[in-house]
Amino acid sequence: MNNDRPAAGDPRPATTAITAGRSANGMSLAPPLWASSTWVSHGLADARKRATGRRSSEFYSRYSNPTVRAFEEAIAALEGAEDAIAYASGMGALTTTILALCGSGSHIVAQRQLYAGTLAFLQGPCRRFGIDVTYVDGCQPGAFAAAVQPGRTMMILAETPSNPLLELIDLDELGAIRGPFKVVDSTFATPLGQQPLQHGIDIVMHSATKGIDGHNDATLGVIAGERDLLDEIWGYGVLHGATASPADALNALRGIRTLAVRTAHQSASALRIARELASSAHVAAVHYPGLPTHPQYALAQRQMRQPGTVLAFEVTGGQPHATSLLDRLQLARVATSLGGPETLVCHPATTTHASLTADEHAGAGIVGGLLRVSVGLEDPEDLIADLTRALEPQ
Ligand SMILES: *Cc1c(COP(=O)(O)O)cnc(C)c1O
Repeated sequence: MNNDRPAAGDPRPATTAITAGRSANGMSLAPPLWASSTWVSHGLADARKRATGRRSSEFYSRYSNPTVRAFEEAIAALEGAEDAIAYASGMGALTTTILALCGSGSHIVAQRQLYAGTLAFLQGPCRRFGIDVTYVDGCQPGAFAAAVQPGRTMMILAETPSNPLLELIDLDELGAIRGPFKVVDSTFATPLGQQPLQHGIDIVMHSATKGIDGHNDATLGVIAGERDLLDEIWGYGVLHGATASPADALNALRGIRTLAVRTAHQSASALRIARELASSAHVAAVHYPGLPTHPQYALAQRQMRQPGTVLAFEVTGGQPHATSLLDRLQLARVATSLGGPETLVCHPATTTHASLTADEHAGAGIVGGLLRVSVGLEDPEDLIADLTRALEPQ
């Protein structure tokens, strides 16, 4: 895998995960929780300075908050970005970014393989606001560039690896496109798995609810990129109000400290489970970028440090087989979300992608026998035993 050897003297990502985001700590080793919604000023001149400053900390928490700021600094360091902004959720990060940069008459090029909430936002509110979207197959070389309308396309929106089939976007190819802002949802990779900004992407976005927090106890989103661009989005975000909670930022900052060991363990387990499933007579297909059979295996090796903690597979017996498997699991839990310590299995066709039409399901490859697995921190042998037992046809 690509180890992105940093320049001499620069720390490696696992070290940055420990050292970053400590500027609000004082002498405390753990970050303090700044629960305050507001701060006291020293008179009018000071109050004016705080109210009109960019990203002013210690004014009012919708503008900025020291605990949230510490989390943002940690993400910026991990992504190799000038700055980062946290939001109330991944959707808060995404919708604020889109609405800050696009308006009526704007054009967005989006890949078809997107998180269902993102797709619903593009198809519903964006259409209502007069933001026009062209969908492309992001896996096809040249597809994004071909759909760009010079002077009109404001944004290209991509997600890699994609949900739920773990398809990849070529970040170098996307980063080379000139004109529109290039935004990449990197949630499935986490900042330890890949660094889209190093490939020419303008904004990397995460649902920090997932692997970054890593403990299923925060709902949080974040974007990272150049400071000027982020300041622009911040200005709109203060009005939009999808403000990150300092308690969630605290939990996610705690999560970042163990991100490197968690993702390394989960990724190694995911590869073992993917191999095991691929050899089962009851499995029709396994989707995992770490398997040489993945159509974009070479791309994964090139742009990812580790193939990730999520895999998907298709059982041979369609939806009835998938249903019986879910009913018979004893260790893995049936739940949506990903990136936490517990292994979660979900059935995309009836849950995360339930809002899609039959045509959209077919287009996205979301068949009745498809299951998505977020591999947790259990011993992989126990997970393999659980899945193998549950896979046996009834
Ligand atoms: C979960 C998720 C989101 C949305 O994040 P929330 O924190 O649930 O708002 C967006 N993109 C991807 C890839 C996700 O997995």
